[in-house]
Amino acid sequence: MATYTLFENKESCCGCSACAEICPKNAIKMIPDKFGFIYPEINSSLCTECGACRSVCAMSTELEEKKPLDVMVGVSQVTDVMQSASGGIFAALASKILDNGGIVFGASMEVIDGRLAPMHISVEDKESLKKLMGSKYVQSSTSGVFGKVKTALCDGRQVLFSGTPCQVAALNSYLKRSYENLYTADIICHGVPSSEFFQKYIEYEENKLGAKITNFKFRDKNVGWGLTAKITYRNNGKEKYKWIPSRASSYYSLFLDSEIYRDCCYSCKYACSSRTGDLTLGDFWGIEKQHPEYLATNGGFVEIKKGCSCITVNTEKGYRLLDSGIKVSESTYEKAAEYNKQLVSPSRKSKNREFILNNFANSGYKAVEQFFVKNNFLKIQIAFLKYRIKRILNLLRLR
Ligand SMILES: Cc1cc2nc3c(=O)[nH]c(=O)nc-3n(C[C@H](O)[C@H](O)[C@H](O)COP(=O)(O)OP(=O)(O)OC[C@H]3O[C@@H](n4cnc5c(N)ncnc54)[C@H](O)[C@@H]3O)c2cc1C
Repeated sequence: MATYTLFENKESCCGCSACAEICPKNAIKMIPDKFGFIYPEINSSLCTECGACRSVCAMSTELEEKKPLDVMVGVSQVTDVMQSASGGIFAALASKILDNGGIVFGASMEVIDGRLAPMHISVEDKESLKKLMGSKYVQSSTSGVFGKVKTALCDGRQVLFSGTPCQVAALNSYLKRSYENLYTADIICHGVPSSEFFQKYIEYEENKLGAKITNFKFRDKNVGWGLTAKITYRNNGKEKYKWIPSRASSYYSLFLDSEIYRDCCYSCKYACSSRTGDLTLGDFWGIEKQHPEYLATNGGFVEIKKGCSCITVNTEKGYRLLDSGIKVSESTYEKAAEYNKQLVSPSRKSKNREFILNNFANSGYKAVEQFFVKNNFLKIQIAFLKYRIKRILNLLRLR
């Protein structure tokens, strides 16, 4: 289609859509490949080869080497931590921006034409903020979002933008200059599957349930801080729920085992201490071993059932954003990275990745599920059993 090319190989495109958004001729469209990963495609009849798309590409620029100013363990004091994946830091930061009349951008699980569609949206009130809370372990579309951020900044409003490190880098590159009223938070990220792959998984689950799924929450805390998903579906006009431990779900397991990420995730240049946001947020996995002194059982502020966050402060602005509504205590990068390898290196490509994705492209999601169940039958049963035991223990404790 085009003579002008945007990227050398798939490893060098993160699908952020900044090139499509900046194109003055609207000559670039994001098109899914056979695995559902979106890549820019140039319409050569519209392209004038002005170079705006290439110059906005953050993936093609060198990352400045730097170290965080601080690393902390944190828990929100002003929001319901049970609704967040980790310690609810994002919601606490966002609440502060909203209280100041600002606007917050982040990933939401939207429903478009009956399909679950993870995408970045903006919110301006606390009720809508709930949409951005919780992790969506799928690539979120940032199509058309960077321009909206710029407009809000130029209107003089405080803006919080959160996303994967490549999305934050893309925004910074799109804006070309720093804005005093912009705050950014990147999340610790080990990679993203395609939205199409996720959608086909949802359709597969819908067929099994015989009902329409209206939400998929990756990090429900009904049995505590961990990796249990909650499916919301409609049956006979009623809203119902189903919980799946991550290791019993084909999609969730393949995600956790790095089997289905975008090509660029396996060589992610942001999986290091040179972070792209003012703050970096993640789970503080391994808190029991790294900081037993912070646990509530030892007189500290971390309730292990509710979870806690790892926060790296990367700029002075990051400190300003953290200054209220969040309980924090000191840690180190080394301690945080011990159980969060994405802070030091990208995920390793699994040996099954090509097979699984080709199976998906050629034979559909059913083939992926069959492969998964065949190889993990026992693990799935054990995952359900462990979940049921945790649930019973939880109910007994609540009595
Ligand atoms: C794909 C992905 C991989 C991750 N991998 C790790 C990991 O390896 N280790 C780790 O410690 N943490 C990881 N996280 C981050 C973790 O799950 C929490 O999102 C983070 O700890 C923030 O939690 P919170 O309690 O502060 O806020 P929450 O309310 O739980 O987090 C919501 C925040 O996450 C953002 N977000 C949610 N889904 C997406 C998405 N698809 N794309 C971009 N932004 C999104 C929202 O915009 C919002 O800022 C990952 C998150 C995602 C989305």
